[in-house]
Amino acid sequence: MQLNSKTVTGVLLTVLILGVLYWYLFQPFRLVPERTQLAPDNGLGVAPPRAGGALGNRLVRLCPEALCRCAPLDNLSNSDFHLVAPDHLLYKQPSIVQGRTDVVTVTPWLAPVIWEGTFNPLLLDSIYKLKNITIAATVFAVGKYIRFLKDFLVTAEKHFFTGFGVHIYVFTDRVDEVPHVQMAPGRQLMVISVPSSNRWQEISARRMELVRTLIEEKLRDHVDYIFCLDVDSQFHGRWGTESLGGLVAVIHPGYYRDDRSKFPYERRPESRAYVAPGEGDFYYCGGAFGGLLQEVHQLVKICHSNFLDDAKNNIEAAWQEESHLNRYMWINKPSKVLSPEYLWQDFKPINPEVRIIRFSGVTKNYAEIRPNA
Ligand code: UDP
Ligand code: MN
Repeated sequence: MQLNSKTVTGVLLTVLILGVLYWYLFQPFRLVPERTQLAPDNGLGVAPPRAGGALGNRLVRLCPEALCRCAPLDNLSNSDFHLVAPDHLLYKQPSIVQGRTDVVTVTPWLAPVIWEGTFNPLLLDSIYKLKNITIAATVFAVGKYIRFLKDFLVTAEKHFFTGFGVHIYVFTDRVDEVPHVQMAPGRQLMVISVPSSNRWQEISARRMELVRTLIEEKLRDHVDYIFCLDVDSQFHGRWGTESLGGLVAVIHPGYYRDDRSKFPYERRPESRAYVAPGEGDFYYCGGAFGGLLQEVHQLVKICHSNFLDDAKNNIEAAWQEESHLNRYMWINKPSKVLSPEYLWQDFKPINPEVRIIRFSGVTKNYAEIRPNA
């Protein structure tokens, strides 16, 4: 059959239009509203200024780096959310109508609050075993605080993620005094030398900066989760996979029954750690926080940068990095909240809702142990 030229042109035009349409739909840099762009959070609840002018629903191109940050569509194995349980695992039937009623177990933004009796350790460990995760912990033992390190390490070996790959990073100015503690296979201790300081406030505050550097230089690509812990504390009970999450905060034992007006947030508006009256969810501990490596990296980066901004203005937040952490968590809500079981204080009488103490700060003589008053 002979095709006339009109038919041929028609077919070619259709193919051309379909081709252009196909190219537009499947190109990687589709136009998207600016709101969906990945933007770093400055922890202040204010969008950072962007090149290119006014905010709004302007159409911008997603940068290729932003796209690369997404996992491939078919790779769920390392996702924090995809929980695979081994088949035929036998454990107590969960109830949907009975459970803890004496405490709140979920925040208003629907993050779980972890209390004894809200989780099944066997089930959680079985799920996370399949993921083959590594957990880092950082701990600072500068000056006389080196004396707390042994008990911290010995008890961590008994209770902190037992059976899992754990890398503990000790930052100290007394490298020779780091005790030798036998660790189970898959668990290791790394010692990092840091300068000593005459001010405990500085030691405390420098932690954010040093953890940031550690993550950037040593941990990325090797570690899945990280917890930053005070050394003047000991483990007394299980601290394990139930604590894993994106951004993980611990409720401070000293204020959890109080009205938010009593929380010792930084109250001077000129500080980057400022929390206004009537704001703030909970008061979180500076002595324990953690989560996915990327989340904690973001946290320490922003807290450190806010700390530096304050220093430029000659201001030191009321409770140093704890104040900055609390400010950060007000804007960047933790995806998992650990109850005060996860950082109690030895001198504090136990309350009935606290069924187990997992980690607790030892009672210390501040005047004797700190380099300055
Ligand atoms: N720290 C230290 N040497 C010091 C002061 C503080 O190594 O001279 C570290 C240590 O890890 C300690 C943490 O900073 O646990 C926080 O300080 P501290 O425990 O004194 O604060 P608190 O828990 O009493 O508020
Ligand atoms: Mn402490």
